[in-house]
Amino acid sequence: MAGTLDIMPSPIRIEEDEQENIARIKELKAKYGERVIVLAHHYQRLGVHACGDVTGDSYALCKAAANTAKARDIIFCGVRFMVTSAATLCRDDQIVYHPDKNAGCPMADMANLPQVMRSWQELGEHTEISKVIPVVYMNSDLDLKSFCGERNGIVCTSSNARRVFDWSFARGQKIFFFPDEHLGRNTANAYGIARDEIILWDPALVNGGHSAAAIQKARVILWKGYCHVHTRYTVPMVNEMRAKYPGIKIVVHPECTEDVVRIADAVGSTNFIQEYVKKMKPGEKVAIGTEVNMIHRMSVQSPDKFVVPITRSLCPNMFKISTRDLRDCLEQLDSWEPVRVDPREKRFARIALENMLACAG
Ligand code: SF4
Repeated sequence: MAGTLDIMPSPIRIEEDEQENIARIKELKAKYGERVIVLAHHYQRLGVHACGDVTGDSYALCKAAANTAKARDIIFCGVRFMVTSAATLCRDDQIVYHPDKNAGCPMADMANLPQVMRSWQELGEHTEISKVIPVVYMNSDLDLKSFCGERNGIVCTSSNARRVFDWSFARGQKIFFFPDEHLGRNTANAYGIARDEIILWDPALVNGGHSAAAIQKARVILWKGYCHVHTRYTVPMVNEMRAKYPGIKIVVHPECTEDVVRIADAVGSTNFIQEYVKKMKPGEKVAIGTEVNMIHRMSVQSPDKFVVPITRSLCPNMFKISTRDLRDCLEQLDSWEPVRVDPREKRFARIALENMLACAG
């Protein structure tokens, strides 16, 4: 549809050298056969995504890693927290590889174990800690997942946040949610938690910046962390899209701010957004608030629909993995450094991850 690509970024297309890499990747995958599986997140570059045997959001890929029966080698094209989760859930005889170990996530870096342990202790000074359920977003380091597993907590993703709230409130009275404020707040709002029962915990302040009374009243305690890719979208941007393209639908990810989520037509995980676009009728228009590589791919796959970003917002960390990296990883598989996780962290993180998979039904 005319106009779709006008506001799309130019660098994210499959370049000629990428075509060569993709052809070589296909050759290598054919050589390895069932021994190798490539998992690729929806935010990966177009060419990398095209090489995935399984593509999806972090929840879907986590499930795929847990259920991969035949492959011995799992190559994960995503950021570090996804890769370590896959290494935690896969069997002992399987090996996980990361094509670029420098691909991390700034949001995951916004909470570390000493901070979380100190906050947990402070919470315990003002409330009955056995009634607080720790809920850690998938976008976190493995030691935080382990912290949750050791305390009967759970991992949450943007696909299953509501179910995780059900699970948690069936077992406790308060949720301590980290590290993404916005997914937690949007889920709490949709769950009908009153505004004065949601508090924002600033780890730089004593007691997160709250009085004992506020902590006691809170049902949801949100860590002060955010994704710079999704918090880039604003209400004026949404209004501008609606003024420019009458009838356009606005669909956003729950890591966006509550102001943006409130005025959107739909909100959901990357898998939800992908399904939303698939179900659109030819000629329909949508402006999306999530990572731009995924939006670009959907616009290319649906030329009869008008699919654009609310504004361009690229995750430079997801962008780090190129087809060259994936090709190198496959070519040097027998000498590529496998992803290693600490056995103790693995043991407890696995509990929190399995709670997540079980609560999805
Ligand atoms: S999109 Fe945001 S949360 Fe996801 S990997 Fe990038 S920085 Fe992290």
